[in-house]
This record gives sequence, C-alpha cells and structure tokens, in this order.
Amino acid sequence: MKAVLDHVGIAVQDLDKALAFFRDALGLEVEVTEEVYAQRVRAHFIPTGESAIELLEATASESAIAKYIDKRGPGIHHITLRVPDIRATLAQLKTRGVRLVDEQPRPGAEGALVAFIHPSAAHGVLVELKQAARRLVEQWVTQMAFGNLQLTTVSDGSFRLDGGAMFGVVPRPLWEKKAPPDDRGRIVLAMRALLVEADWGRMLIDCGAGGKLDAKWSEIFGLERTRSLDHTLAEAGVEPEAIDVVLPTHLHFDHVGGAVSRTALGLVPHFPKARYVIRRGEWDAALEQHPRSRGSYFTDDVVPLDQAGVVDFFDDDREIRPGVRVARARGHTAHHQVVYLESGGKTAVFAADVVATQAHIQDNWITALDLYPMESFAFKQRFLREAIDREHLIFFDHDPSVSAGYVREKDGTRFVQRVI
Ligand SMILES: [Zn+2]
Ligand SMILES: [Zn+2]
Repeated sequence: MKAVLDHVGIAVQDLDKALAFFRDALGLEVEVTEEVYAQRVRAHFIPTGESAIELLEATASESAIAKYIDKRGPGIHHITLRVPDIRATLAQLKTRGVRLVDEQPRPGAEGALVAFIHPSAAHGVLVELKQAARRLVEQWVTQMAFGNLQLTTVSDGSFRLDGGAMFGVVPRPLWEKKAPPDDRGRIVLAMRALLVEADWGRMLIDCGAGGKLDAKWSEIFGLERTRSLDHTLAEAGVEPEAIDVVLPTHLHFDHVGGAVSRTALGLVPHFPKARYVIRRGEWDAALEQHPRSRGSYFTDDVVPLDQAGVVDFFDDDREIRPGVRVARARGHTAHHQVVYLESGGKTAVFAADVVATQAHIQDNWITALDLYPMESFAFKQRFLREAIDREHLIFFDHDPSVSAGYVREKDGTRFVQRVI
C-alpha cells in the first residue's frame, strides 16, 4: 500500500496563542479557515510542502476536540495518511484484525472520504485515513463518493450570458461584485453536467451545449469548448458509449444541446447506447417555439432523438433509477425539474437553473429569463429552506468555480460551504 502524510492535526486551546507561534514566530502562512459543522470544529490549515499542519479549534463544548483537550490537554490530536483506495485499505486492516473507529469510510471535508483507526491499534496515535476527491482539472472534472453513488461533475466548457439577464431584478452594483461582466456586459457561466455511476449503470444529468451551434450563435454566447464534455468524460474514464441514461433538467440548449451531434449521417444521438428520459411537458414547450423562448430552445437538440426512437417520455415526478428522483420546479420553464440524489441517508440535488451559481442562493436572485418568476421565487424559497435545514448538497450547473457545496445560514446571512 502507498500512503502519503497528508497532515498532522493539532488540538488547540487558545487559537491566538497558537497563531502567535505558527504564523507570527515561525512565519508560516495560514490558509482559509474551514468550519466542520458536524464536528463543531474550525480547522486552520498551514501548508508545509506536500503535507500540512491543521490547527483544530473547538466551536462548542460537545466538540470531540474540546473533550480531547479536557482529557489530555492541547497537542497532537491525529495524523492523516492519504491513501489511493480507502476501502481497500480498510479491508486490508480488517483482515489483520486492526481495531477501527470507522469500519466504513465517511465523507470528510472537500469531498474526501475519511476513516479513523483506533489509537490502541496504532501505538497511541489516532490515525485518520483519507481518500481525496479526485480533482482532475481544476473545476472541469470533480469526483466524489456519495453513499452508493459515484458523482462526477463533467463540464462542457463555458458560455456567456448578459449579466442583467442572469440576475433579474437585482441591481448591477450588487451582482457585478459576484460575477464581473465583460465589456459586453456578459458573465461567464460553466456548463456542468453530472455523471452518476451506480450498480444500475451510468447516467448523465444534462449534457451541455454540444458542438452544433454555428459561428454566429457561438459568438453571441461566447461559447468556449476547447475542453468539451467528451474530453471531461474521457478524463473521468468514460466514453459516450458507456452512458446508459441521459436525463435533462430542461431542454434549453445549454443543458441538452450535447444530446445530439452533427455527423456525416446527419443529426444523431451523441450517446449511442443511452435512453433519453424526458418530461413530456418540457418536450412540448421546446417544440412549441414560443417567441419568448426561441433563443433558448433549439429543435435540432431534441427532434433527432425522437426520430431515433431513443426517448422515454414521462409526465409526473418519479424515481428515474434507484436513488435518482426528479421533482418539477416550475418557474425557469413550465416543466423545469431538479434532480434529487439519495443514498446512504444523505441527499444531494442537481438544482440546474433554480440555483445556477453560488450568487443565486438568495431567494430573490432569479434570472430575467425565467418564464414564471413568481413561481420560481415560491419554489426556490421552499427548496433552499429545506436544503439548508436538511443539509442537502447542492450541485451548481453554471457556477464557474464551485461544483457543489452546502448552503449555510449564519446570523441571517447565507453562504456556500464548498465541497468540490
Ligand atoms: Zn435554462
Ligand atoms: Zn442553464
């Protein structure tokens, strides 16, 4: 087995005194603080080459760190070894009869999986094993385990939309701080799809704009696909032939354009072995070509799927595959839907254009493109309240830097705690 020392965790009683030593006296740089709510701990990371020092500060008396300090005083609390396959390591330890705190890995910070080995088995040292989230290329591809599901965000590049259109009634001085516009007033948006891998197969939720847009439209939308969905899927080790199900949240070109490719044989399904599972109401709206939506729905993105006989239509909210459930979220379009991923007692949601970027976590930050903004507001208010209260992990489809995170609320202020 190969293991790398990831960090040494130090339980700190007086943070100011600890910083006076590590930061001021030693001159080390302290990274952004991360709060681990579940454990009532605030972690201050100090990078030291390949490894790091982690100063652990309890935020409540019931915190494990507070209890540790009560019993043994401040000092080294644990060491963390990074391993390539945490399940294999745990299995290996189990066959040797090593006493474990965690028989199964559990989610740690930043999408990692962690498990502790009991100190009695490790000569008095609490050892944490960690399998880091695979971050292949910045935020183009990020991967995390989520219960029995393997979730990988795969980007189809980026595009640009008018900043005012993305933030509706929010005045520019407020949104431009969060999403700086270019000289044409456009902001950069990722086109992020989500690959779900489970024992039933591989599903792609949304599939980007694809390569069909002509030069004129590509220019209007500032389309940047030098690293397209095919590239990012390949980086995640998946070929288009390996996708079993494509589930679009809605049929706007930036979510379903990648479903159809232009080839010598004409327009054909891009994922040749997939079923395309589509809500009938959304399909009808896309084909209606209402003047209000004509810039967002392109018939070439969907009609060839029906012609190829690969569409499975459905009408109502339902479980699409075990652990994957859709819920209609009328507002952005009449039949827009969010996708709930449920496994191991936890819930993640691919929120699509209900919460397109981190900036959209305010109830009233709704795009001007939404067809039914009052209904968007009502849905979003309920949706985010539940996501905050029940700690749903939110996947952001258009955020240029954060793929997924928890929405938190502190003293009436909302913020995103990034996971990947
Ligand atoms: Zn949309
Ligand atoms: Zn969109």
